[in-house]
Amino acid sequence: MAGEPQADCVFCKIVSGDIPATVVRKTERTLTFRDINPQAPTHLLVIPRVHYADAAELAAAEPQIAAELLVEAGGAAAGEGLESYRLIFNTGAGAGQTVFHAHVHVLGGKPLTEGLV
Ligand code: C5P
Repeated sequence: MAGEPQADCVFCKIVSGDIPATVVRKTERTLTFRDINPQAPTHLLVIPRVHYADAAELAAAEPQIAAELLVEAGGAAAGEGLESYRLIFNTGAGAGQTVFHAHVHVLGGKPLTEGLV
């Protein structure tokens, strides 16, 4: 059922505590943790506790939680001392999405002015 935990989802397992993660923030509805394979000095992931395949599906079903991802991303960036940062929502395998549980990447701590890709 939409929003329910998926047995084969690595981020659902992080939410349940079955897979460890370095969690830096949590709310009733979200979790923020360090990416296991960082692409920048600061690389965080903000995820909803509920399972939706991507951010657009989450926003369609649970717009308040989708908004909370952005609030948490901003709070986490501030907590890391970042004045500038990049938020990325990879959507679809062709865009590099590898975990099909909605998430936003928070990247910062180095110049990010070279372009988007
Ligand atoms: O947007 P995409 O689906 O590619 O991002 C998934 C991210 O989840 C990757 O950056 C990967 O390093 C991260 N990951 C993680 N911890 C895991 C599995 C994946 O931080 N246990």
